[in-house]
Amino acid sequence: MEKINLDNYKGIIFDMDGVIFNISDAIKKAVDDSVDKYQMNVNQDEVMEEIARLIEEIQNYPVPKILLNSYELLKVKFLEGISFFKKLRIAIFMFNQFNKYKDAESSIYEGIDKLISKLAKHKKLAILTNNKSQYAEEVLEKFNLSSYFNTIIGFNDVSEVKPNPEGILKILNKWNLKPTEAIFIGDMTTDIEAGKAANVKMICVASGLAQKETLLKHQPDILVDSTEQLIKLFNL
Ligand SMILES: [Mg+2]
Repeated sequence: MEKINLDNYKGIIFDMDGVIFNISDAIKKAVDDSVDKYQMNVNQDEVMEEIARLIEEIQNYPVPKILLNSYELLKVKFLEGISFFKKLRIAIFMFNQFNKYKDAESSIYEGIDKLISKLAKHKKLAILTNNKSQYAEEVLEKFNLSSYFNTIIGFNDVSEVKPNPEGILKILNKWNLKPTEAIFIGDMTTDIEAGKAANVKMICVASGLAQKETLLKHQPDILVDSTEQLIKLFNL
């Protein structure tokens, strides 16, 4: 298996959900509840990424912003063919269920804290999330990881979220690094697109929300199956 030669890199950018923080179980339960309640005919594996992305995007939007954007937000495949108001009901229910499960069911991936603390000894570390930066700060604080990250960029810090490379470029600019000196670790196709557009080394973790075949199609530089494999990749 391929190893990363850390001598070649000075900065590492982490996505939050799906890389550090594991929200898969909370999403799965929210989807299960919605499928039961609304008798939806969906394949859970296929809809996970879309739902994860939707949840990530709206998680910290103020309600008026969600309402204003709801028509666009709900143009998702798993709700195709359903009337707008029913879509809205399903989405709100799913989102409430997710929030109900999130705190109790979610934790950081096993071993990711050790990897972060080791990497932080030699490299600059940042978080880039499409969620609100405050959310990332709270999660990092809860799991005693705050001190390792000198930069946290959320949707509130950029004009365009991932797949746009703006956030990555902003971090590189702050660090005064060239794209070739940085690694971006993400778990979704939007992360792969952002990393490639920014020209950094893109490592994708297929941690469960997006399907591996879909991720492969977007051609990350490296694709690993799990946090365990991600840790091995760094050989620390
Ligand atoms: Mg993610």
